[in-house]
Amino acid sequence: YQAKGEGGGVRHFEPWMLDRVHRRHCLESRLRHALEAEELFLHYQPQVDLRDDSLIGGEALVRWQPPGEDPISPGEFIPVAEESGLVLPLGERVLDLALGELRGWLDAGCACPHHGIAVNVSPHQFRLADFVQRVEAALQRHGVPARALTLEITEGAVVRDLGDTIAKMHALRELGVTFAMDDFGTGYSSLSQLRQLPLDTLKVDRAFIRGVNEQPRSAALVGSILDMARNMELYAIAEGVETAAEHAFVADRGCEAYQGFLHARPMVGEEFARRLPTR
Ligand code: C2E
Ligand code: MG
Ligand code: MG
Ligand code: MG
Repeated sequence: YQAKGEGGGVRHFEPWMLDRVHRRHCLESRLRHALEAEELFLHYQPQVDLRDDSLIGGEALVRWQPPGEDPISPGEFIPVAEESGLVLPLGERVLDLALGELRGWLDAGCACPHHGIAVNVSPHQFRLADFVQRVEAALQRHGVPARALTLEITEGAVVRDLGDTIAKMHALRELGVTFAMDDFGTGYSSLSQLRQLPLDTLKVDRAFIRGVNEQPRSAALVGSILDMARNMELYAIAEGVETAAEHAFVADRGCEAYQGFLHARPMVGEEFARRLPTR
């Protein structure tokens, strides 16, 4: 097999490279290169109010398009980035790109939606001793108000060191940053840990949404998560809403907002900016 190499040369791909371990290894070095070559960019997925489809926020999602090749999905390269430590420079880049684009939109006369722009934060990033300072510095660098930024954390950020996580969340909230728990219910955190986190938003994972109209247990689960969110005074966003029936279900159960292909797929920043309110 031959494939276009990184420096424009030709590089060999052997059948053994299809082996999972080697594919990972290969992806890792390509990702390292992609970070240097600035091949990563962002798409934004609108988050909308379930009652009237008005925009409440947007999630920044990293994209990797190696020149002349098929795009590689974050579902494939984020795990590699997590394992290799590349998720640290990647996360820094994503934050920088998102705040830079947001600054541009604000300068062009757009207003930030109510729930801000959401950026995914990996547990590794969150564990950095100077994570709070890094976020603060990025906000200052771009002149973006902290209330315009939501950080999406996962349960993985919680299980290692709950006290440290809480302290960092409080420090960032002090600045005005808000927090969403992403993919809720798919990780290993406990409800007792969750209860202690200063969260604003709970995002119901799309794996649960998928079954709500066919599987009574998925329906019960999503219903219970939404009840819990309401009782804990958390704003609830349903992810991955694809059908009118799923939309009706979560709206019925008191969910506030959703993101999903039913409303819009992730899109380039320019297109997302056209949906923003003006000042
Ligand atoms: P996530 O944070 O839960 O992001 C939502 C994912 O669901 C996105 O996939 C989005 O395109 C997809 N999605 C949204 N609506 C629908 C729908 O109606 N149907 C279906 N089937 N999918 C929908 P994407 O962009 O491929 O990202 C996958 C995951 O990769 C993200 O899940 C997140 O965990 C991770 N990721 C993406 N960008 C970043 C990033 O900048 N940093 C970090 N650390 N992780 C990221
Ligand atoms: Mg997310
Ligand atoms: Mg999510
Ligand atoms: Mg998810």
